[in-house]
Amino acid sequence: MSSPVKALFAGAVREDLLFPFPEPTDEERETVSAFLGSLRTFARDRIDSARIDREKRIPPEIVRGLADLGTFGISIPVEYGGYGFSSSAYCRVMEEIGRTDASLGILIGGHQSIGMKALLLYGTEEQKKRWLPALAAGEMVAAFALTEPEAGSDAASIRTTARYDAARDEFVLDGSKHWISNGGIADFFTLFAKDVALEAADEHRRITAFAVTKDLPGLEIGPEEKKLGLKGSSTVPLVLKEIRVPAFNVIGPRGAGFKVAVEVLNTGRTSLGAGCLGGCKAMIREAALHAGERRQFATRIADFEMIRGKFARMVASTYALESLVYLTAGLVDRGLSDYSLEGAACKVFGTETMWSVVNDALQIAGGNGFMEEYPYERALRDSRINMIFEGTNEILRVLVALTGLRELGSDLEEVARALKAPLGNLGILSDYVGRKIRGYVAPERLERVAPELAVEADLVRRYTRSFGAAAETFLSRYGTHILERQYQQERLANVAVDLYASIAVLSRASSAVRRRGAREAAEEIRLARAFVGSAKYRVVGALKEMEKNRDRDHAAGRDGDRSAIAEAAYSSPGYRFDFWG
Ligand SMILES: Cc1cc2nc3c(=O)[nH]c(=O)nc-3n(C[C@H](O)[C@H](O)[C@H](O)COP(=O)(O)OP(=O)(O)OC[C@H]3O[C@@H](n4cnc5c(N)ncnc54)[C@H](O)[C@@H]3O)c2cc1C
Repeated sequence: MSSPVKALFAGAVREDLLFPFPEPTDEERETVSAFLGSLRTFARDRIDSARIDREKRIPPEIVRGLADLGTFGISIPVEYGGYGFSSSAYCRVMEEIGRTDASLGILIGGHQSIGMKALLLYGTEEQKKRWLPALAAGEMVAAFALTEPEAGSDAASIRTTARYDAARDEFVLDGSKHWISNGGIADFFTLFAKDVALEAADEHRRITAFAVTKDLPGLEIGPEEKKLGLKGSSTVPLVLKEIRVPAFNVIGPRGAGFKVAVEVLNTGRTSLGAGCLGGCKAMIREAALHAGERRQFATRIADFEMIRGKFARMVASTYALESLVYLTAGLVDRGLSDYSLEGAACKVFGTETMWSVVNDALQIAGGNGFMEEYPYERALRDSRINMIFEGTNEILRVLVALTGLRELGSDLEEVARALKAPLGNLGILSDYVGRKIRGYVAPERLERVAPELAVEADLVRRYTRSFGAAAETFLSRYGTHILERQYQQERLANVAVDLYASIAVLSRASSAVRRRGAREAAEEIRLARAFVGSAKYRVVGALKEMEKNRDRDHAAGRDGDRSAIAEAAYSSPGYRFDFWG
């Protein structure tokens, strides 16, 4: 099964993969619903999100309670003591946790989505038997330790070293990590270091992944960071002083650590989108309760059109996010192996949708929105980081654009080589297996969309075609200079994400029509129309800008102006003008 987002770059819509919208089985629905029931009861009776924020910690009894429910092992296979939930079911639980408290989302996501994911994906049977049961039971908490002070987005540049000591069959690790989520309470770290003895052409092919447990002498856990949000979540630096790690603890092949890290992060991004979905739903509910009660000018504020407009935007974009997350998770469950771009789309769209929803909800709350006794300011603080960690949204846009183009240009040797080599230096981006996607035929019409959404289906089909043509023009015009054209990469990525989200919405609403009939599915039809209608303006705008700025000369056009404005701000750092002076 190949990536539907990559196919968009060839102007194609993979209707065969994207329709009908994935549905859980009755049995799975029942299991997940029972789990969610227990989680909700626990949350209602025991979790106080404001207190977690105020006291800057998750009380140990909450961690224990979540562990007793089995939350730490939902994605771990049953044979190792977990629930073995599918990707969809895992996302549904992460959605619920995101709705409850963002710091709890990091506790559970940091543990499962990234902390012990490498063990699940690359661990040997012995390694899995050694650690997974304790991780599933929440007796051990996991963390993912990649970032260093000098190596953020450029993760391939990490400086922590691993020296192999053959006499003792151990590795000696030295270096430091920072901003490690769950670090203060974790017992198990998936930690990345440069394996100094390895000969490799590229620096990143020397990185090796290790399971570092807290009991190993030489691991120092630093103090908790003081953060803008996620105050209940533990974020610490680590210092590694000649830690002796048994060779048994190497996860995956030596020198494949970078690939391991990239794959772990790729798999985690869909569920980060799910966490954001939960956050959006919580905000819409709060804002709706407030708008229905608050009266100004003898009118419920809910009745003012400027407030209605905000609800329409919040609900339609949240519906799109939900469709994007569960379409992607469903594809993963059906065996899509390379879903790096779909996961990136969930992360970028999810984190930015949540930011915009929180902003709208806070505005609807008026002055109350600014006060600590209401949940909006906390949500605003908590949600800001989502656009930064697990691959910044800029890096993910580069990933979407360049990977999509590389697939398109994989028969253009020189371009493919140019795209591959610098990607190796772009940290998080490299190590994707190229597959040709040429040969797809842009469809004449989308066959599987419900007739009620024929206009929207036609829009998506036409703009996908234009997008494919723009991508091809872009490739042939810039050749190996594509890498420098980030303004254009950003537009490409934005259009790809909007098209994928639009198709997700069409697929879901069409399934609703098929199952329940057009009359019963009227609300979903309306949401699909609203979302595709708004996406259309963004897509048209981006395609036009791409066209206007297609000159090969960097200094030309509006993009040239943008660069000149930025350069001026750099040259005498700051804003250069003073109206009075
Ligand atoms: C609360 C918190 C929790 C975290 N948890 C973890 C964790 O558990 N494990 C872990 O390993 N790390 C963790 N991180 C680190 C996080 O993943 C990094 O902060 C992130 O990868 C960005 O790195 P940086 O902060 O060094 O920013 P930089 O890489 O310095 O980036 C700064 C800015 O430049 C932009 N930029 C960089 N390169 C490019 C480029 N090529 N093109 C365009 N723009 C670019 C970025 O998008 C960003 O806007 C955490 C961080 C925080 C704040």
